[in-house]
Amino acid sequence: MTSTVFVINSGSSSVKYQLINPETGESLASGLAERIGETNGHLRHKAAGEVVDLEMPLPDHSVALREVKKLFDTTGPRLEDAGIVAVGHRIVQGGKHFSGPALITQAVYDKIVELVPLGPLHNPAHLLGIDVAKEIFPDLPHVAVFDTAFFQTLPNEAATYALKRDVAEKYEIRRYGAHGTSHQFVSGLACDYLQREDLKQVTLHLGNGASASAVAGRQAIDTSMGLTPLEGLVMGTRTGDIDPAAVFHLQRVAGMTFEEVDTLFNKQSGMKGLCGDNDMREVWARVDRGEADAIEATEVYVHRLLRYVGAYTAELGGLDALVFTAGIGENDNRTRAALCKRLEFMGLKLDEAANNERGDGLRVISTPDSTVTVMIIPTNEEWAIAQQAMTLV
Ligand code: AMP
Repeated sequence: MTSTVFVINSGSSSVKYQLINPETGESLASGLAERIGETNGHLRHKAAGEVVDLEMPLPDHSVALREVKKLFDTTGPRLEDAGIVAVGHRIVQGGKHFSGPALITQAVYDKIVELVPLGPLHNPAHLLGIDVAKEIFPDLPHVAVFDTAFFQTLPNEAATYALKRDVAEKYEIRRYGAHGTSHQFVSGLACDYLQREDLKQVTLHLGNGASASAVAGRQAIDTSMGLTPLEGLVMGTRTGDIDPAAVFHLQRVAGMTFEEVDTLFNKQSGMKGLCGDNDMREVWARVDRGEADAIEATEVYVHRLLRYVGAYTAELGGLDALVFTAGIGENDNRTRAALCKRLEFMGLKLDEAANNERGDGLRVISTPDSTVTVMIIPTNEEWAIAQQAMTLV
């Protein structure tokens, strides 16, 4: 029987799961339990081409995962017969302690607990996911795959903030990055495809959250997310880079509390804050209607991308490949074209027809004589987690 991995991404009010063949990436079943903690919870389960939607109260993660298990029993495939050899857990914050996947022993579990102050929005939810998954799969190895692990290779000069040293050390304030599983996955595929181990590439994970990484060979040397996923690119609802003095200013002048500023920067800013929409499709539709705030929002978005690609090209000492991934990176030809146009000065040439064509899988969208190979590489974090989990079982 084929071995499979059950991958869990547990958030504060949702759990995403996928039963996956780690060799091929084939998804045998996937789904989502959302609005956990509310009376109008929602379950969506996909298997064998069928989708089941259910509404029910999901008071906590334990109930949610038990309902998911029932769905597997009724709609299939039955988990007992699915050849599961490991459970892979996505963990956002691994701090400086994890440079690869880790079997969830008590010591590893305790470390994830210890890291809660650095990942207050995510790690507590991951811990709930681990607790419940261990009840459902008591005899299987559980593996933690950290979003930060890929960035443990960052040189100190890239990971260190110019903050008073004793304070930074005491409170572990440094750049940890995020989306590492995705950047590692797509940059590895770029190396494989171009058959080069010395590839200088910038990977752009542009989804609702967005980040850029500079990758030399298969090692990350810089990344745009920092202590938290707030830093860096303009995102759906997050500011990305902003002068931290804006926090003091808003507190002094507007009388805002830190919680209010936190919500403002993380949930009400970015594209949504600039033009009222965080879905790029809607933003471009409004650009086409000539709406000034949407036009400006796309300009700010692309400008920030350009700044990072330029900086990372300098850090890498050149650029061989530019990789687009995630919702916007994979689907939004206009954002890709707007960025690539600004990079023509370095001999990058976009193949416009290839850029405009919709497709699946890895594809090259630069011309043969472009100095930089521009690629779309669909990310698949679940598959990456399953692959990494398999390295430990
Ligand atoms: P992700 O977080 O990777 O799931 O990406 C979600 C985002 O991708 C959405 O908020 C949209 O902004 C963007 N997106 C998805 N499809 C398209 C598309 N066809 N054109 C432009 N943007 C898209």
